[in-house]
Order: sequence, then structure tokens, then C-alpha cells
Amino acid sequence: AAKAAGKGRFEFYQPHLSDSLFLRLAKEHALREAIDKDQFVVHYQPRVSTRAGRLNSLEALVRWHHPERGMIGPDDFIGLAEDTGLIVRLGELVIDNVCAQLAEWGRRGLGPVPVSVNVSGIQLREGGLSAFIAAALARHRIDPRLLEVELTESSVIDKGRATAHELSALRELGIKLSVDDFGTGYSSLAQLQQLDVDVLKVDRAFTSAVGKSEEGAVLFRAIVSMADALDISVVAEGVETREQLHALQSLDCDEVQGYLVSKALPAHEVPSLIARRYLFPASATA
Ligand code: C2E
Ligand code: MG
Ligand code: MG
Ligand code: MG
Repeated sequence: AAKAAGKGRFEFYQPHLSDSLFLRLAKEHALREAIDKDQFVVHYQPRVSTRAGRLNSLEALVRWHHPERGMIGPDDFIGLAEDTGLIVRLGELVIDNVCAQLAEWGRRGLGPVPVSVNVSGIQLREGGLSAFIAAALARHRIDPRLLEVELTESSVIDKGRATAHELSALRELGIKLSVDDFGTGYSSLAQLQQLDVDVLKVDRAFTSAVGKSEEGAVLFRAIVSMADALDISVVAEGVETREQLHALQSLDCDEVQGYLVSKALPAHEVPSLIARRYLFPASATA
């Protein structure tokens, strides 16, 4: 690339380029070390029924608990983990962490509340995901129905045989499958039905449109009615306002998730959510 850029140019030595390469390598090294030391924690965000705010499940969202820099969100390291292949081991840490947590809540007689785990397309493609999940469920003695895997449209549509095989192996485990960030990719509901998806998590961009414009509501209603016909349930992601919630209630969206109900919380705060059961804030029902 440096050569193509023209005679006499030594791109590698441009400070900005070497800086970013240096930072990237440093970050990769740090991430690798974080995986070796398991510096990750899982937070849980509740997903509730749209009608009553009843706790139906929890989404597991990973955070990097960096010894010096504190809590780092997934948007700052999942991309790098994917580019370097480290996502496979990181994903395994998350799955094992979640299964151990489910077992612990089970021993304490809490719930049971199902948990969904985000999985990247690379984890699916590399293979071994369904085998790892099967082993983790067995090791921690978890009912497969308590686990759901969230996949993005781009990671499941028209992918190779390895992906298709993994998807059907996941189905055979008896866990649920959901499509995350729906609407940001180019899949059709018919394609998703072929994959036997249980849940559609509609991207937060659509949720915010619902509260804003008539078109937003019309679009969301269309998604709900098609999903309904295909026996797929619909979750609105990123619900932040009462107005959005009320609109989603009138659209018959099945479930909602978002800051209006709760942000993702550390595991030790989950028992009080389970005890409350109905999680709408008083201001949302008034
Ligand atoms: P996602 O799966 O779509 O998760 C929803 C993200 O939106 C979470 O951000 C959540 O905290 C945030 N969120 C929830 N409610 C609201 C709201 O009302 N408003 C707004 N503005 N945001 C809201 P988070 O935890 O930073 O995660 C970001 C993304 O990182 C996730 O998006 C998911 O794609 C990825 N991710 C998280 N954990 C994992 C993991 O264990 N494995 C993989 N492969 N990806 C993960
Ligand atoms: Mg998700
Ligand atoms: Mg999402
Ligand atoms: Mg996402």
C-alpha cells in the first residue's frame, strides 16, 4: 500500500500511522492479558412485558473491569476482539460466567429468569459454539430453556455451511435464538423464520422513531404484525421514555428493554429485580 501511494513516500514512518498501529498492538496485548486473567464482568439488563412491566428475562452485557481504567464498555473492545479472533475465548468466558450465575441464582431459589447472551458472527463461524454451550449447560446443570443466544442479522443470513450447521446445532440444544438490532441489516422476516428464530429485538433507532412520528409507528406496527404471523415475538430495544412505552403498548409489541425500565446492573443487584417482578417506574404507569 505504501508503494502504491507513490514514489518516495514511506507511509509506515508517518507518525500517525505508527502511533495507531502501536496503540492497536498495545490494546490487543492488553485484551489478551485481560482474557488470560478473566478481567470481565457481566451486567444484566431486564427485558419486561410491554403491558405490565413484568420481568421476563435478562440480557447479559459484558464489561471489562480494567485494573487501572475502571469499567470499559463492550463498544470499546468487542470490535478488536472480533478482528483478532479473541472474541472466541472472550465469548466462552461470558457464556461460562452466565451459566455459573444462573446456577448460583438457582441454588438460592431465585427465579428462574432466562438470560440472553450476545454472540458475534465470528463465534458462530469458527464452529464449536454449540458444543461449548452444551458443555457449559451440562457443567453447571442449567436447563437449556433458560438460555437464549442473540445474533445479528448479518451474522446469520446467507452465511456458509459452518454457520448454518452451528445454528441448527444451537436449535437442537433447546435454547432460544433471537435476532439483535433488527432493522439495521437487510434480512427479511421470511429469512428469519426459515432460521426458526424465536425473538426479534428491534433496533433502538426504530423505537425512537415510534415516539416521534406517525411513520415510525406505522413501521413498527408492520414489523409487529408480520412477526406475529410468523410466531416470532418482538422486543423493542432502547425504550427511554414514557411516550415510547405508551406507543409500544398500543402497537402490541410483546416486550421492552431500555433505560426507562433499567440500565444493565451488576449481578448482585439482580435478586432485588427478581423480587420486585414488576419493573415499570411509577412515573411510567401514571
Ligand atoms: P446490544 O446487544 O444491542 O445491547 C444493547 C446495548 O444498548 C447495551 O449497550 C445496553 O446497555 C444499551 N442500552 C440498553 N437500553 C438502552 C437505552 O434505553 N438507551 C440507550 N441509548 N442504550 C441502551 P452495551 O452494554 O454498551 O453493549 C453494546 C453492544 O456490545 C451490545 O449491543 C452487543 O452488540 C455488544 N455486546 C455486549 N456484550 C457482548 C458479549 O458478551 N459478546 C458479544 N459478542 N457482544 C457483546
Ligand atoms: Mg443484544
Ligand atoms: Mg441490540
Ligand atoms: Mg448491537
